[in-house]
Amino acid sequence: MNALYSWLQDAVNVADLNDYLYWFELADIRNGGENLDRIYATLNDAIDLHAFAQAHQITIEVKTSPNVDLHAQYDPNNHIIWINTVWLEKYQPFIGDTDALNLHLAHEIYHVIEENGTWYDGLKYKIRHAISEVSALYFSQKQTNLPFHPKLVEYAIGLEEEKYSKDDLVSYLRERTKDYEIYRNTKK
Ligand SMILES: [Zn+2]
Repeated sequence: MNALYSWLQDAVNVADLNDYLYWFELADIRNGGENLDRIYATLNDAIDLHAFAQAHQITIEVKTSPNVDLHAQYDPNNHIIWINTVWLEKYQPFIGDTDALNLHLAHEIYHVIEENGTWYDGLKYKIRHAISEVSALYFSQKQTNLPFHPKLVEYAIGLEEEKYSKDDLVSYLRERTKDYEIYRNTKK
């Protein structure tokens, strides 16, 4: 990851990029910026993920799924969080075994925590869903102390798998951070 991170820092403002990646999912919903601020303000406490799972009688299963696109899933009926080994293996070279597992686990644990009620429960489904996913991602970043948005790992994997070139990625991300400027200006 450091290899990606160092040149990416030269190419774009990574702090803005992180913020942008979270904001993007909320860009189309009402009060997107305010909702993001609220997420940032509330999800910073570290918890023991494995102890939490145990206390809530949740089984963690690590297995290969026939659906390769699926990273992980929480099954509330059977109290199982399963994580797809395919993605653990893809993440491992960039953030290591432990963080690869904990990043996925934290995301799903957030969905368990949500069951106790959230500040966005009363909102419309589309908005609720968007806030839920951004919250889960942000929570997973915080729980693993990752200095960047988890999606940056996906970008690194895409480069590794030669789905695009470094130049393509940089110009794509530069375009995106321009969109972010628009958002930032509306906040002033
Ligand atoms: Zn999710």
